[in-house]
Amino acid sequence: MKREVSCTVTVSIESVSVNSIEQAAFEGAREAGKKLFVGLLEVIEKSLPKDRECECGGQLESRGRVARELMTVAGDVAFTRQKLRCLKCGKERYPLDEAVGIAGRRLVTTGLKEKVLWLATEMAYDRASLGMEKMCHIAISDGTIKNAVMEEGGEVIKQKEEERKRVWEEGGDVPAGEGKRRVFVQVDGTGVNDRATRGWFEAKVGVIFSQTQEVSKDRVEILDKRTYGTVEGISTFREDFVIEAEKYGVFQSQEIIFVSDGGTWCQQLKEDYFPEAIYVLDFWH
Ligand SMILES: [Zn+2]
Repeated sequence: MKREVSCTVTVSIESVSVNSIEQAAFEGAREAGKKLFVGLLEVIEKSLPKDRECECGGQLESRGRVARELMTVAGDVAFTRQKLRCLKCGKERYPLDEAVGIAGRRLVTTGLKEKVLWLATEMAYDRASLGMEKMCHIAISDGTIKNAVMEEGGEVIKQKEEERKRVWEEGGDVPAGEGKRRVFVQVDGTGVNDRATRGWFEAKVGVIFSQTQEVSKDRVEILDKRTYGTVEGISTFREDFVIEAEKYGVFQSQEIIFVSDGGTWCQQLKEDYFPEAIYVLDFWH
């Protein structure tokens, strides 16, 4: 099934300029995007099976249409969808939400979330919020951005935990990356001030790279950097970082250069997992 969406863009010919065309094109694309969302959601809802039963076997009764908003790259999309209620167990359901995978609280689409998360890794939440407003004309609060980061972070931590368990406890494999002629492995830790407890904790970071390119005099850019960081303890860092190194292809490489500031846990990591590597003291030290 295909669905066409058209939208009208009005530009005043008397005062037309590249700027006004550009502005109209931008707004038109957003309008078309919203229309497409609403139109397609309608089509999808109509195509859903009519007489459905609850998992408990109870009959589902219509409770009318309920409004919902979705934050998308085209802006906020408002739509309504049918609400059902089970006559037996009382469970409430929104078939459309379930069909398009937005059941529950999730308000921000994956596409918008990707943009926002990218910004949030480059700048503070309030700056990221301002950036979305300026660049995309999308109003998304710093609180919503923070929630998106927390949600995504929780997901990444869960995945890492599962992978760690699979590799280190169950002896599972990770796909090894292609070996390089020479690979650089660099680790370091730094104290971070914890405002909540007024204490300190250590963040540990490791980077792996093999290709560099001179961008200007005395300035070199790293082209294929893989970064891993954590505020967890040393053993978590070691286990995760060795997995990252395996995925990158460190252990398949001809020459490994291990760079660190000479800290005890860094040296121990080198001895335990990178014994063949050439040890280089970080030139800052
Ligand atoms: Zn039920």
